[in-house]
Amino acid sequence: MTSSTLGAPARSRRSFLTGTAAVVGASSIAAIMPNALAESASAAAASTLPDYAPVPPSALGPALNDQGYYVAPVNRNLYWVTDGTYQSAFLTSREGVVLFDAPPTIGHNLQRAVDEIAAATGVSNTVTHLVYSHHHADHAGASSLFGKDVVRIGHEETRQLLLRDNDPTRPAPTETFRDRKTLHIGGERIQLAWHGSNHTPDNIYIHFPDHDTLMLVDIVTSGWVPIYNLNLSEDIPGFTAAPTTALSYPWQHFIGGHVGRLGTRDDVVLHQQYVEDIADSARTALAVVDPTPYFVKYGENSWAAVKTYLDAVTDYAAAPVIAKYTGVLAAADVFTTSTTLVVLESIRLDLGAGSQVHS
Ligand SMILES: [Zn+2]
Repeated sequence: MTSSTLGAPARSRRSFLTGTAAVVGASSIAAIMPNALAESASAAAASTLPDYAPVPPSALGPALNDQGYYVAPVNRNLYWVTDGTYQSAFLTSREGVVLFDAPPTIGHNLQRAVDEIAAATGVSNTVTHLVYSHHHADHAGASSLFGKDVVRIGHEETRQLLLRDNDPTRPAPTETFRDRKTLHIGGERIQLAWHGSNHTPDNIYIHFPDHDTLMLVDIVTSGWVPIYNLNLSEDIPGFTAAPTTALSYPWQHFIGGHVGRLGTRDDVVLHQQYVEDIADSARTALAVVDPTPYFVKYGENSWAAVKTYLDAVTDYAAAPVIAKYTGVLAAADVFTTSTTLVVLESIRLDLGAGSQVHS
C-alpha cells in the first residue's frame, strides 16, 4: 500500500509514515539503538530495498484534500471517507449521523468529513451511532473520539473481544446481535448480518438496501491483492467463502475498508479468481515439488527441511500467479508469496489435502 500512499499528498504520506512507525515500534527501537548503528541500518535498508511493479492506475482513487482525506457520496446520503489506505462510511439521517468504523489513521478527519457534508447539505453533523465492522483497532481505534453518548452497535463477539482487549480507544458496543439485525435510524435502513467467521470471528456484512451498497471490511481490497496472509485473516476457509456471500446480496457499490477507491462487483469477482488461482497453483505445487532432497539434506533438523521444502512449494505456486496478476491487481509481486503460503497451509491443514496416514 506504500505505492498508493506515495502518490498521495504530503500530509497523508506523513500521517501514514507516522502510523507505520507506531505499528512496528520504530521509534522505541531507535531509542535503544546507538545513532551510528541506526544510521548505517537505514542506509543499508535504503540501498537494498526492492523495486516493485508500478501500481496500475485502476487501483488508485481520487486525490486527498489538504487535510489528508477525501469524502464523497457513495449513493445519495451514504458517504465514504478515505485517507488513501483506510475507509470509513457514514449515513446522514433526520436524527443524526450513523458512522461505520472509525479508523485511527483517518481520526479527527472523520468529524471534519461529516462537518463538511452536513454544512453542504443542511443536516445534523452529530454522530449519534457508530457501527463496528469488527473489533480490530485499525478500523475502530478512533471510536472514543465520539464520546460516551454515541450508541455503539456491533456483533456480540465484537463486544466480547473488545471487553477482552480493554482498549479505551475502542469502547465495546452496547447494542449487539448474533445473526441479523436491521437498524432503523432517522428514516434510514441498515441491515447487519453475521455469516460465520472469516477475517475475524466477528466480521459482519453491512448492507444498505436503499443505497445499493455493501460494506464488508478486510476481505476484498479493490484493485489490490490482500496483504500478507489474506489480510491477516484468522479463518482462511471463511475468508475464501466470504466473497460468494457478499455477491449474494444485491448491490453496486462496495466499501472494503481499505485502499483509496470504492469497489464494484467486478472487483470482488477478480479477487475471487485471484484466490482461486493461488489455491489451484498451490495444489499443483504440492503434487509436483519433491520433498525428498530437503529431508535428505537436513537429516535430524526437521524444521530446516520443513522450511526449505515449504518455501520451495510456495515459490513454485506463487510464480505463475504473480506473472498473471502483475499489472492487473496492485502489489501482486509484493504479497502473493506470503498469501500463497497460508493458502497452501490451509489446503493441507483445513482441507486435509496431502495428509498421509502412516501404514
Ligand atoms: Zn481487521
